[in-house]
Amino acid sequence: MLDLSYDTPKVKTIAGVTGDWELVIGLEVHAQVATKAKLFSGASTQFGAEPNSNVAFVDAGMPGMLPVINEECVAYAVRTGLGLKAQINLNSAFDRKNYFYPDLPQGYQISQLYHPIVGTGEVLVEMGNGTARNVRIERIHLEQDAGKSIHDMDPTMSFVDLNRTGVALMEIVSFPDIRGPEEAAAYVVKLRQILRYLGTCDGNMQNGNLRADVNVSVCRPGDYEKFQATGDFGELGTRCEIKNMNSMRFIQAAIDHEARRQIAIIEDGGKIVQETRLYDPDKDETRSMRSKEEAHDYRYFPDPDLLPLEIEQAWVDDIAAALPELPDAKKARFMSDFGLSDYDASVLTADVENAGFFEAVAEGSDGKLAANWVINELFGRLKKDDKGVEDSPISAARLGQIVALIKSDKISGKIAKDVFEIAYTQDRDPTEIVQTEGMEQVTDTGAIEAAVDEIIAANPDQVAKAKENPKLAGWFVGQVMKATGGKANPAAVNKLIAQKLAQ
Ligand code: ADP
Ligand code: MG
Repeated sequence: MLDLSYDTPKVKTIAGVTGDWELVIGLEVHAQVATKAKLFSGASTQFGAEPNSNVAFVDAGMPGMLPVINEECVAYAVRTGLGLKAQINLNSAFDRKNYFYPDLPQGYQISQLYHPIVGTGEVLVEMGNGTARNVRIERIHLEQDAGKSIHDMDPTMSFVDLNRTGVALMEIVSFPDIRGPEEAAAYVVKLRQILRYLGTCDGNMQNGNLRADVNVSVCRPGDYEKFQATGDFGELGTRCEIKNMNSMRFIQAAIDHEARRQIAIIEDGGKIVQETRLYDPDKDETRSMRSKEEAHDYRYFPDPDLLPLEIEQAWVDDIAAALPELPDAKKARFMSDFGLSDYDASVLTADVENAGFFEAVAEGSDGKLAANWVINELFGRLKKDDKGVEDSPISAARLGQIVALIKSDKISGKIAKDVFEIAYTQDRDPTEIVQTEGMEQVTDTGAIEAAVDEIIAANPDQVAKAKENPKLAGWFVGQVMKATGGKANPAAVNKLIAQKLAQ
């Protein structure tokens, strides 16, 4: 359900010579299923293996080989569908999509055109400025990935690596609900986040294991509302599809560029030809790759080697019962249980591992303080070392100790930074550090008072000035902190100095 406390984000408009244009975007995201074996063979899906070492006979398209469905891949697709609040189809079927390509030895891709395993769902896309949009999912189907042609290893020959051939992909198709480049990127970020929470796709875009085909069209203000009212795609402009985008930055640049290209053509009296285009980040332009094929060009037909896929509701229910807490729910819980701001809760739940680490820090200490320390100190320090929380040199339990030490006034926030640095770099226990290094905060007012008196007695000129200008009291605070090695309780110091200067 769309949280109605959000305003609808603004639609991106681009001003043309003849007036304003609006953007309409629909995404087809290919997410590699994180199972160990391929969709129809037992070959491994391991990334970066020796070329052609993970290839079963069926993947190589050997005559007479028969595909056998991997139940785990089906379970992952169902889990994904449930995570996207989608309808699960108990009856689905596989079709052959016929085309020739050197990295597709079968001569066809096994996909699900007519009866996908997952139907309509939705993803809440927050824009970070208090606005959000519910992007509807049209379908998710299972299909095989292709292999990889390698053209740059030899001047005269091309090579082919079939390791990826037959690896399971989920194609997640959105409705054309996305209305701007930033929103498109935010949608992919959210989708990737959910998939990683579910554990159904690693979402590693650099390795190509999550990639998006981006469909873009432009229309006049008002046209989209007519489309929404009638469901008639004819109200929208002709779309072009930009293939295989694997970076959030490029997705945005490509959409913006493609929309401007289309606007220029239409305003010049031309027509948009529906086609598949490629984005070239070096030149920041899209180029035509091929004219758009229609479904009939592929001679789709039900794959005779595979039975229709029938699954049972009870099995789906078991998968549903085992779903983890998902990002929206986790964020809401962090806000209500720990009193975190929307922003902090978003940062901490952006990645499932970070969220788990934070919760372990917060356990038995203070949620808000823990959030501060995880976001500002830990993430900052890890970033400097180019590390993730999974290889943090300081454990969640130890960071939790530091937060608890601050909370109980044992150490000041300033000293805590030194304790953190020692614990982080020397693999030591914070409580032990504070004891061994004598870093405990001085809260004993007698000791603080002695230090204050000493500074006041030694600096009569400063005292006279501060009596006239209370802002100068800060200088005394600094001196006392220095004299106590930063260990005096700052609140107590401030109070005592104010008292003494008022005398
Ligand atoms: P195809 O199989 O030809 O790629 P699909 O029905 O799978 O067509 O749709 C591809 C994507 O294009 C979907 O995400 C859909 O929302 C999007 N789309 C459809 N029409 C438009 C349009 N006019 N402008 C932008 N995106 C569109
Ligand atoms: Mg498509």
